[in-house]
Amino acid sequence: MANINILDKSIFNRIAAGEVVEKPASVVKELVENSIDAKATNITIEVEMGGIKKIKVTDNGIGMDKENLPKAFLPHATSKISTLDDLDKIGTLGFRGEALSSIASVAKVTALSKIKGAEEGTKITLSGGEVENITFVGCTDGTQITVEDLFYCIPARAKFLRKPKTEESEITNLVSRLILANPEIIFKYVADGKTIYHSTVNGLKEAIYTIYGTNTIENILPVDYTYQNLIKVSGYIGKPSFVKANRTYQTILINGRYIINKTISTAIYSAYEPYLMKNAFPFFVLHVSLPLDKVDVNVHPNKLDVKFENNNLIYGAFYNPISEELQKLSSKIREYKT
Ligand code: ADP
Ligand code: MG
Repeated sequence: MANINILDKSIFNRIAAGEVVEKPASVVKELVENSIDAKATNITIEVEMGGIKKIKVTDNGIGMDKENLPKAFLPHATSKISTLDDLDKIGTLGFRGEALSSIASVAKVTALSKIKGAEEGTKITLSGGEVENITFVGCTDGTQITVEDLFYCIPARAKFLRKPKTEESEITNLVSRLILANPEIIFKYVADGKTIYHSTVNGLKEAIYTIYGTNTIENILPVDYTYQNLIKVSGYIGKPSFVKANRTYQTILINGRYIINKTISTAIYSAYEPYLMKNAFPFFVLHVSLPLDKVDVNVHPNKLDVKFENNNLIYGAFYNPISEELQKLSSKIREYKT
Protein backbone atom coordinates (compact mmCIF):
# COMPACT_ATOMS: atom_id res chain seq x y z
CA MET A 1 0.00 0.00 0.00
CA ALA A 2 1.15 3.54 -0.71
CA ASN A 3 2.36 5.64 2.18
CA ILE A 4 0.17 8.55 3.14
CA ASN A 5 1.96 11.89 3.49
CA ILE A 6 0.69 14.71 5.62
CA LEU A 7 1.13 17.71 3.36
CA ASP A 8 3.37 20.51 4.46
CA LYS A 9 1.53 23.75 5.30
CA SER A 10 2.95 25.60 2.32
CA ILE A 11 1.82 22.94 -0.17
CA PHE A 12 -1.61 22.65 1.44
CA ASN A 13 -2.08 26.42 1.30
CA ARG A 14 -1.28 26.57 -2.37
CA ILE A 15 -3.79 23.84 -3.16
CA ALA A 16 -6.45 25.55 -1.06
CA ALA A 17 -5.56 28.84 -2.75
CA GLY A 18 -6.70 27.32 -6.04
CA GLU A 19 -10.27 27.46 -4.76
CA VAL A 20 -10.22 31.06 -3.59
CA VAL A 21 -7.71 32.69 -5.91
CA GLU A 22 -8.58 31.50 -9.35
CA LYS A 23 -7.77 34.69 -11.20
CA PRO A 24 -7.05 38.41 -10.64
CA ALA A 25 -10.76 39.21 -10.29
CA SER A 26 -11.03 36.81 -7.34
CA VAL A 27 -8.24 38.68 -5.56
CA VAL A 28 -10.02 42.00 -6.11
CA LYS A 29 -13.28 40.48 -4.85
CA GLU A 30 -11.73 39.15 -1.66
CA LEU A 31 -9.83 42.36 -0.89
CA VAL A 32 -12.78 44.66 -1.51
CA GLU A 33 -15.15 42.42 0.46
CA ASN A 34 -12.73 42.64 3.36
CA SER A 35 -12.78 46.44 3.09
CA ILE A 36 -16.58 46.41 3.11
CA ASP A 37 -16.63 44.07 6.11
CA ALA A 38 -14.22 46.52 7.79
CA LYS A 39 -16.93 49.21 7.40
CA ALA A 40 -14.97 51.31 4.91
CA THR A 41 -16.85 54.23 3.36
CA ASN A 42 -14.17 54.94 0.80
CA ILE A 43 -12.45 52.24 -1.27
CA THR A 44 -9.90 52.70 -4.05
CA ILE A 45 -9.07 49.82 -6.37
CA GLU A 46 -6.04 50.11 -8.65
CA VAL A 47 -4.97 47.43 -11.10
CA GLU A 48 -2.12 47.09 -13.56
CA MET A 49 -2.00 44.68 -16.47
CA GLY A 50 -5.39 43.19 -15.67
CA GLY A 51 -4.30 42.70 -12.06
CA ILE A 52 -1.56 40.26 -13.03
CA LYS A 53 1.20 42.75 -12.30
CA LYS A 54 -0.47 44.63 -9.48
CA ILE A 55 -3.70 44.94 -7.51
CA LYS A 56 -3.92 47.58 -4.82
CA VAL A 57 -6.96 48.10 -2.58
CA THR A 58 -7.00 51.02 -0.16
CA ASP A 59 -9.75 51.54 2.40
CA ASN A 60 -10.62 53.79 5.33
CA GLY A 61 -12.08 50.94 7.40
CA ILE A 62 -11.41 49.85 10.98
CA GLY A 63 -7.87 48.67 10.20
CA MET A 64 -5.76 46.10 12.05
CA ASP A 65 -3.27 46.65 14.87
CA LYS A 66 0.24 45.25 15.03
CA GLU A 67 -0.89 41.99 16.67
CA ASN A 68 -3.67 41.32 14.21
CA LEU A 69 -2.12 42.30 10.89
CA PRO A 70 0.31 39.33 10.75
CA LYS A 71 -2.45 37.00 12.03
CA ALA A 72 -4.73 37.96 9.15
CA PHE A 73 -2.38 36.10 6.79
CA LEU A 74 -2.51 32.80 8.67
CA PRO A 75 -4.77 30.05 7.27
CA HIS A 76 -8.24 29.94 8.82
CA ALA A 77 -7.72 33.29 10.50
CA THR A 78 -10.93 35.29 10.77
CA SER A 79 -12.42 37.82 13.11
CA LYS A 80 -15.89 37.25 11.66
CA ILE A 81 -16.99 33.98 13.22
CA SER A 82 -15.84 32.12 16.27
CA THR A 83 -18.46 29.50 17.09
CA LEU A 84 -20.50 26.96 15.14
CA ASP A 85 -23.67 28.95 15.88
CA ASP A 86 -22.25 31.96 14.03
CA LEU A 87 -22.48 29.95 10.79
CA ASP A 88 -26.27 30.20 10.91
CA LYS A 89 -26.30 33.97 10.82
CA ILE A 90 -23.49 35.21 8.65
CA GLY A 91 -23.78 38.96 8.22
CA THR A 92 -20.37 39.64 6.69
CA LEU A 93 -19.18 38.93 3.15
CA GLY A 94 -16.20 36.87 4.30
CA PHE A 95 -16.11 34.27 7.05
CA ARG A 96 -13.83 31.43 5.95
CA GLY A 97 -10.58 33.09 6.89
CA GLU A 98 -8.93 31.73 3.76
CA ALA A 99 -8.55 34.67 1.43
CA LEU A 100 -5.54 36.57 2.71
CA SER A 101 -3.51 33.44 3.47
CA SER A 102 -4.33 32.03 0.04
CA ILE A 103 -3.47 35.26 -1.75
CA ALA A 104 -0.21 35.58 0.17
CA SER A 105 0.77 32.03 -0.76
CA VAL A 106 0.56 32.72 -4.50
CA ALA A 107 1.84 36.31 -4.83
CA LYS A 108 3.95 39.06 -3.31
CA VAL A 109 1.92 40.97 -0.76
CA THR A 110 2.48 44.25 1.05
CA ALA A 111 -0.07 45.32 3.64
CA LEU A 112 -0.27 48.55 5.58
CA SER A 113 -2.81 49.07 8.29
CA LYS A 114 -3.65 51.43 11.11
CA ILE A 115 -6.53 51.50 13.55
CA LYS A 116 -8.11 54.78 14.61
CA GLY A 117 -6.27 56.48 17.43
CA ALA A 118 -3.06 54.49 17.03
CA GLU A 119 0.11 56.53 16.73
CA GLU A 120 1.53 54.50 13.93
CA GLY A 121 0.55 51.80 11.51
CA THR A 122 2.06 48.41 10.72
CA LYS A 123 3.56 47.33 7.43
CA ILE A 124 4.08 43.70 6.55
CA THR A 125 5.55 42.13 3.43
CA LEU A 126 5.06 38.50 2.47
CA SER A 127 6.33 36.47 -0.42
CA GLY A 128 5.10 33.00 -1.37
CA GLY A 129 3.25 32.81 1.95
CA GLU A 130 6.25 33.63 4.15
CA VAL A 131 6.50 36.83 6.17
CA GLU A 132 9.54 38.80 5.01
CA ASN A 133 9.38 41.93 7.06
CA ILE A 134 7.27 43.75 9.64
CA THR A 135 7.87 47.45 10.36
CA PHE A 136 6.03 50.35 11.94
CA VAL A 137 5.20 53.26 9.73
CA GLY A 138 3.23 56.46 9.64
CA CYS A 139 0.06 56.04 7.60
CA THR A 140 -3.60 57.05 7.49
CA ASP A 141 -6.38 55.10 9.24
CA GLY A 142 -7.49 52.01 7.38
CA THR A 143 -5.86 49.32 5.32
CA GLN A 144 -3.97 49.15 2.06
CA ILE A 145 -3.13 45.79 0.52
CA THR A 146 -0.95 45.45 -2.57
CA VAL A 147 -0.73 42.14 -4.40
CA GLU A 148 2.01 41.86 -7.02
CA ASP A 149 3.09 39.24 -9.55
CA LEU A 150 0.14 36.93 -9.09
CA PHE A 151 1.06 33.24 -9.39
CA TYR A 152 4.75 34.11 -9.84
CA CYS A 153 5.66 31.10 -7.73
CA ILE A 154 3.25 28.69 -9.44
CA PRO A 155 4.10 28.61 -13.15
CA ALA A 156 1.44 25.94 -13.72
CA ARG A 157 -1.24 28.40 -12.58
CA ALA A 158 0.29 31.44 -14.25
CA LYS A 159 -0.15 29.60 -17.56
CA PHE A 160 -3.93 29.79 -17.14
CA LEU A 161 -3.98 33.56 -16.82
CA ARG A 162 -5.73 35.10 -19.79
CA LYS A 163 -4.75 38.23 -21.71
CA PRO A 164 -4.46 41.27 -19.42
CA LYS A 165 -7.39 42.95 -21.19
CA THR A 166 -9.61 39.91 -20.57
CA GLU A 167 -8.67 39.75 -16.90
CA GLU A 168 -9.22 43.50 -16.67
CA SER A 169 -12.70 43.36 -18.13
CA GLU A 170 -13.65 40.70 -15.62
CA ILE A 171 -12.40 42.95 -12.83
CA THR A 172 -14.33 45.90 -14.29
CA ASN A 173 -17.46 43.77 -14.34
CA LEU A 174 -16.94 42.75 -10.75
CA VAL A 175 -16.26 46.32 -9.60
CA SER A 176 -19.46 47.49 -11.31
CA ARG A 177 -21.42 44.95 -9.23
CA LEU A 178 -19.64 46.05 -6.06
CA ILE A 179 -20.62 49.67 -6.77
CA LEU A 180 -24.25 48.68 -7.40
CA ALA A 181 -24.22 46.59 -4.24
CA ASN A 182 -22.87 49.39 -2.08
CA PRO A 183 -24.25 52.77 -3.16
CA GLU A 184 -23.34 54.16 0.27
CA ILE A 185 -19.61 53.61 -0.35
CA ILE A 186 -17.44 55.87 -2.53
CA PHE A 187 -15.50 53.70 -4.94
CA LYS A 188 -12.67 54.72 -7.19
CA TYR A 189 -11.51 52.20 -9.76
CA VAL A 190 -8.36 52.81 -11.77
CA ALA A 191 -6.95 50.48 -14.42
CA ASP A 192 -3.46 51.14 -15.81
CA GLY A 193 -3.62 54.69 -14.52
CA LYS A 194 -6.99 55.47 -16.08
CA THR A 195 -10.00 56.16 -13.83
CA ILE A 196 -12.83 53.91 -14.99
CA TYR A 197 -15.38 54.51 -12.23
CA HIS A 198 -15.63 57.07 -9.49
CA SER A 199 -18.88 56.69 -7.63
CA THR A 200 -20.67 59.14 -5.36
CA VAL A 201 -22.94 58.38 -2.44
CA ASN A 202 -26.28 59.57 -3.75
CA GLY A 203 -28.13 56.28 -3.79
CA LEU A 204 -28.70 53.41 -6.17
CA LYS A 205 -29.89 55.47 -9.13
CA GLU A 206 -26.67 57.47 -9.05
CA ALA A 207 -24.67 54.22 -8.82
CA ILE A 208 -26.53 52.91 -11.87
CA TYR A 209 -25.68 56.17 -13.66
CA THR A 210 -21.99 55.76 -12.75
CA ILE A 211 -21.90 52.33 -14.35
CA TYR A 212 -24.37 52.49 -17.23
CA GLY A 213 -24.83 56.18 -18.09
CA THR A 214 -27.70 58.45 -19.05
CA ASN A 215 -29.50 56.26 -21.56
CA THR A 216 -30.07 53.59 -18.93
CA ILE A 217 -31.35 56.06 -16.35
CA GLU A 218 -34.02 57.19 -18.81
CA ASN A 219 -35.27 53.65 -19.32
CA ILE A 220 -35.70 52.24 -15.84
CA LEU A 221 -38.57 52.00 -13.36
CA PRO A 222 -38.27 51.93 -9.58
CA VAL A 223 -39.40 48.86 -7.64
CA ASP A 224 -39.99 48.86 -3.91
CA TYR A 225 -41.97 46.00 -2.44
CA THR A 226 -42.21 43.91 0.69
CA TYR A 227 -43.46 40.40 0.15
CA GLN A 228 -45.37 38.69 2.96
CA ASN A 229 -43.85 41.03 5.52
CA LEU A 230 -40.59 39.19 5.09
CA ILE A 231 -38.72 39.86 1.87
CA LYS A 232 -37.98 43.36 0.70
CA VAL A 233 -37.16 43.81 -2.99
CA SER A 234 -36.12 47.25 -4.16
CA GLY A 235 -34.18 48.78 -7.01
CA TYR A 236 -34.73 49.38 -10.70
CA ILE A 237 -35.97 47.33 -13.63
CA GLY A 238 -35.65 48.17 -17.32
CA LYS A 239 -38.62 48.92 -19.51
CA PRO A 240 -39.38 45.93 -21.76
CA SER A 241 -38.34 48.09 -24.73
CA PHE A 242 -34.88 48.53 -23.16
CA VAL A 243 -33.35 45.10 -23.56
CA LYS A 244 -29.82 43.87 -23.90
CA ALA A 245 -28.09 41.03 -25.71
CA ASN A 246 -26.61 39.45 -22.59
CA ARG A 247 -26.79 39.24 -18.81
CA THR A 248 -24.17 41.93 -18.04
CA TYR A 249 -27.02 44.29 -17.25
CA GLN A 250 -28.60 42.08 -14.61
CA THR A 251 -27.71 42.31 -10.96
CA ILE A 252 -29.29 40.66 -7.94
CA LEU A 253 -27.93 41.51 -4.52
CA ILE A 254 -29.05 39.62 -1.47
CA ASN A 255 -28.23 41.30 1.80
CA GLY A 256 -25.53 43.22 -0.11
CA ARG A 257 -24.03 40.15 -1.77
CA TYR A 258 -24.01 39.76 -5.57
CA ILE A 259 -25.50 36.40 -6.42
CA ILE A 260 -26.78 34.33 -9.30
CA ASN A 261 -29.79 32.15 -8.59
CA LYS A 262 -32.01 30.07 -10.85
CA THR A 263 -35.26 30.57 -8.95
CA ILE A 264 -34.86 34.34 -9.05
CA SER A 265 -33.95 34.46 -12.76
CA THR A 266 -36.93 32.25 -13.61
CA ALA A 267 -39.27 34.48 -11.59
CA ILE A 268 -38.03 37.64 -13.30
CA TYR A 269 -38.19 36.14 -16.80
CA SER A 270 -41.72 34.87 -16.18
CA ALA A 271 -42.80 38.38 -15.19
CA TYR A 272 -41.22 39.86 -18.35
CA GLU A 273 -42.29 37.05 -20.68
CA PRO A 274 -45.53 38.63 -21.99
CA TYR A 275 -43.62 41.74 -23.06
CA LEU A 276 -40.30 40.45 -24.36
CA MET A 277 -38.98 38.97 -27.55
CA LYS A 278 -36.95 35.78 -27.44
CA ASN A 279 -33.23 36.08 -26.59
CA ALA A 280 -33.67 39.55 -25.17
CA PHE A 281 -32.35 40.21 -21.69
CA PRO A 282 -34.09 42.76 -19.49
CA PHE A 283 -32.15 45.21 -17.34
CA PHE A 284 -32.42 45.01 -13.57
CA VAL A 285 -30.57 45.96 -10.44
CA LEU A 286 -32.45 44.63 -7.43
CA HIS A 287 -31.55 44.65 -3.79
CA VAL A 288 -33.18 42.00 -1.67
CA SER A 289 -33.17 41.90 2.06
CA LEU A 290 -34.39 38.92 3.96
CA PRO A 291 -33.76 37.41 7.38
CA LEU A 292 -30.34 35.77 7.62
CA ASP A 293 -31.76 32.42 8.68
CA LYS A 294 -33.78 32.17 5.44
CA VAL A 295 -30.72 32.11 3.24
CA ASP A 296 -27.72 29.83 3.34
CA VAL A 297 -24.57 31.46 2.01
CA ASN A 298 -22.32 28.61 2.98
CA VAL A 299 -22.78 26.84 -0.32
CA HIS A 300 -19.73 27.21 -2.52
CA PRO A 301 -16.29 28.71 -1.88
CA ASN A 302 -16.82 31.39 -4.49
CA LYS A 303 -20.09 32.19 -2.75
CA LEU A 304 -21.99 33.23 -5.88
CA ASP A 305 -24.95 30.91 -5.55
CA VAL A 306 -27.15 30.74 -2.47
CA LYS A 307 -29.68 28.24 -1.21
CA PHE A 308 -33.09 29.23 0.07
CA GLU A 309 -35.18 27.51 2.67
CA ASN A 310 -38.32 28.24 0.65
CA ASN A 311 -38.02 28.67 -3.12
CA ASN A 312 -41.73 29.48 -3.65
CA LEU A 313 -41.44 32.41 -1.31
CA ILE A 314 -38.45 33.78 -3.24
CA TYR A 315 -40.21 33.24 -6.56
CA GLY A 316 -43.23 35.22 -5.39
CA ALA A 317 -41.10 38.01 -3.98
CA PHE A 318 -39.66 38.67 -7.44
CA TYR A 319 -42.50 37.71 -9.75
CA ASN A 320 -45.17 39.85 -8.06
CA PRO A 321 -43.56 43.30 -7.89
CA ILE A 322 -42.02 43.09 -11.35
CA SER A 323 -45.14 41.78 -12.99
CA GLU A 324 -47.15 44.53 -11.25
CA GLU A 325 -44.80 47.30 -12.43
CA LEU A 326 -44.77 46.00 -15.99
CA GLN A 327 -48.57 45.76 -16.05
CA LYS A 328 -48.87 49.34 -14.81
CA LEU A 329 -46.46 50.48 -17.51
CA SER A 330 -48.20 48.59 -20.27
CA SER A 331 -51.64 49.96 -19.34
CA LYS A 332 -50.17 53.45 -19.23
CA ILE A 333 -48.80 52.95 -22.73
CA ARG A 334 -52.18 51.63 -23.90
CA GLU A 335 -53.99 54.64 -22.40
CA TYR A 336 -51.57 56.94 -24.11
CA LYS A 337 -52.15 55.28 -27.46
CA THR A 338 -55.99 55.37 -27.26
P1 ADP B 1 -12.35 36.41 6.21
O1 ADP B 1 -12.72 37.64 5.46
O2 ADP B 1 -13.07 35.21 5.71
O3 ADP B 1 -12.46 36.58 7.70
P2 ADP B 1 -9.70 36.89 5.17
O4 ADP B 1 -8.54 35.99 4.97
O5 ADP B 1 -10.26 37.56 3.98
O6 ADP B 1 -10.81 36.06 5.91
O7 ADP B 1 -9.28 38.00 6.23
C1 ADP B 1 -8.79 37.59 7.50
C2 ADP B 1 -9.06 38.63 8.57
O8 ADP B 1 -8.24 39.77 8.35
C3 ADP B 1 -10.50 39.18 8.58
O9 ADP B 1 -11.36 38.35 9.34
C4 ADP B 1 -10.28 40.56 9.22
O10 ADP B 1 -10.25 40.47 10.62
C5 ADP B 1 -8.89 40.95 8.76
N1 ADP B 1 -8.94 41.88 7.59
C6 ADP B 1 -8.74 41.55 6.30
N2 ADP B 1 -8.83 42.62 5.48
C7 ADP B 1 -9.11 43.68 6.28
C8 ADP B 1 -9.33 45.08 6.05
N3 ADP B 1 -9.30 45.62 4.81
N4 ADP B 1 -9.58 45.88 7.14
C9 ADP B 1 -9.62 45.36 8.38
N5 ADP B 1 -9.43 44.04 8.66
C10 ADP B 1 -9.17 43.20 7.64
MG1 MG C 1 -12.32 37.97 3.49
